[in-house]
Amino acid sequence: MNEQIHREILAKGLRNLKIDFDDQIVRSFLRYLELLMQTNKEFNLTSITDPEEAIYKHFIDSLTVIPFLPEQNNQKTIDIGTGAGFPGIPVKIIKPNLKVTLVDSTKKKVNFLRVICDELKLKDVECIHARAEELARNTKHREIYDIALSRALAPLNLLLELCLPFVKAGGTFIAYKSKEAHNEIKKAERALELLGGRILNVKKLEVPGIEGERNLIFIKKMTCISSAYPRRPGIPQKRPIE
Ligand code: SAH
Repeated sequence: MNEQIHREILAKGLRNLKIDFDDQIVRSFLRYLELLMQTNKEFNLTSITDPEEAIYKHFIDSLTVIPFLPEQNNQKTIDIGTGAGFPGIPVKIIKPNLKVTLVDSTKKKVNFLRVICDELKLKDVECIHARAEELARNTKHREIYDIALSRALAPLNLLLELCLPFVKAGGTFIAYKSKEAHNEIKKAERALELLGGRILNVKKLEVPGIEGERNLIFIKKMTCISSAYPRRPGIPQKRPIE
């Protein structure tokens, strides 16, 4: 791999987002990139096989949330359907004081997350192999998080059922979306109502190196939700709230 080029692309991306960084941070991302590309040859972690593309589409895209995170940095944060760690791990590298929980239903991906946390010496990260529908019924995880994040897991109406049950009243769910953000919001009115969510705003992002419109949807959890949600594993996908 051409380390110097990767280093430059990453540094430029971080500067564009006005993120402060030092050499340790750059080294962490480069090691993550190396392990991601290497492990991806053994089993499918990501469809992106070009390292430069992975820097933009996984690392930089994950970090677009950083300027919008609150100043307090011990907040409990959960990333649902994190896959190979996106956006949770890049966010944790930049904000090491966040307490981060990473959830994915694929065992091999969770094993990979554990290797990364170990290699990058990330503290206060919990990697959980579970389906969101089940974990959200566990009182250790239900309605306790200040912030929930999710990228590329599901359309918003379905995503709300998988993610809002983790967020405490007054907390925020931030969904990473494409240009479909506004269409998805229109179809999610009923889910917002049933799950106690309110759209705070939608930030349209201009990120050099990332083509296609990107949006972050900020959803405030207004009230605690009925114990009926989330429904049993598979049901939210089969019969999404409409
Ligand atoms: N967030 C990552 C991965 C997106 S792919 C990224 O942006 O690159 C969606 C991931 O969600 C997959 O890794 C899949 O295993 C996981 N997933 C799908 N349904 C899930 C569920 N019900 N609960 C937890 N994880 C789920």
